[in-house]
Amino acid sequence: MKATFLGTAGSFPTPKRGAPAVAIQIGSQLILLDCGEGTQRQMAMARIGFKTRTRILITHMHGDHVLGLPGILQTMSLFSRISPLQIYGPEGIAAFVEATQETVKFGLTYPIEVVEIGEGIVYEEEDYFVESAFMSHSIPALGYSIIERNRPGKFYPQKAASLGIPEGPLWGELQKGRTVLSSEGRTVTPADVMGPSRIGRKIMYTGDTSPNDSTVRLARDADLLIHDATFDDDSEHKALESGHSTPSYAAAIARDARVKRLVLTHISGRYSESDSFVNRARDIFSETIMAEDLMTFEVYLSR
Ligand SMILES: [Zn+2]
Ligand SMILES: [Zn+2]
Repeated sequence: MKATFLGTAGSFPTPKRGAPAVAIQIGSQLILLDCGEGTQRQMAMARIGFKTRTRILITHMHGDHVLGLPGILQTMSLFSRISPLQIYGPEGIAAFVEATQETVKFGLTYPIEVVEIGEGIVYEEEDYFVESAFMSHSIPALGYSIIERNRPGKFYPQKAASLGIPEGPLWGELQKGRTVLSSEGRTVTPADVMGPSRIGRKIMYTGDTSPNDSTVRLARDADLLIHDATFDDDSEHKALESGHSTPSYAAAIARDARVKRLVLTHISGRYSESDSFVNRARDIFSETIMAEDLMTFEVYLSR
């Protein structure tokens, strides 16, 4: 599981920061979290290509989070994409994509499925699923958690054989977590022949938001929390008024959710010096860093 920060600016791009977008590579799949203006160029810089299974998850309908979509849809056609593309987002995303297709004449080579969603499970894959919840912003906005399922522990064939379970269908049963009977009638449990299960990884992305309880719930024990920090700690009122956060607000959420690492993003163009921006937040949650464009994080399995 790998996260690449394609754009880390708030509201509008600056020379150093592109408009909001994060790419999550999970196995052979690609998830784009938001799609700000210029996202496809940032993808080219990061050498991230469109995958057969690509999904775009939009947090909300502010321009800085969606205006990169039309360009990406056109480029996929220029590359003669044939695999379907799924786009998820709050109410309004379907009309936006439809208007783009009606007015910009690029002729799609692939089907687009646009799904307007609220809170809950967004979609499920074999290895992971995505959950959403409403955040606290000036318009309806969703946060997304990408949650890998726990993986069964390592299977030890010799142990199974020594307990009277020869290679065959019963090995599969044990690996699926079921108890079986040996030829001598002895009960053999998965724990007898397998190592401890491996905890799945988790990445939570808030999009634009003030601090809220849904983030704590969705980010619980996450490996990586990517949180709004549009304003610095001296501008708390501005942050709350406009549905945004400060580094210290985000750090308190990270602490409460017991995440492993916090990355602050959606940084207003007025802040450049990273130390003064995050210093106070680190007193609340030490594993806090400020996102930069093209920064990547590999999230490894804990065992
Ligand atoms: Zn924004
Ligand atoms: Zn916004």
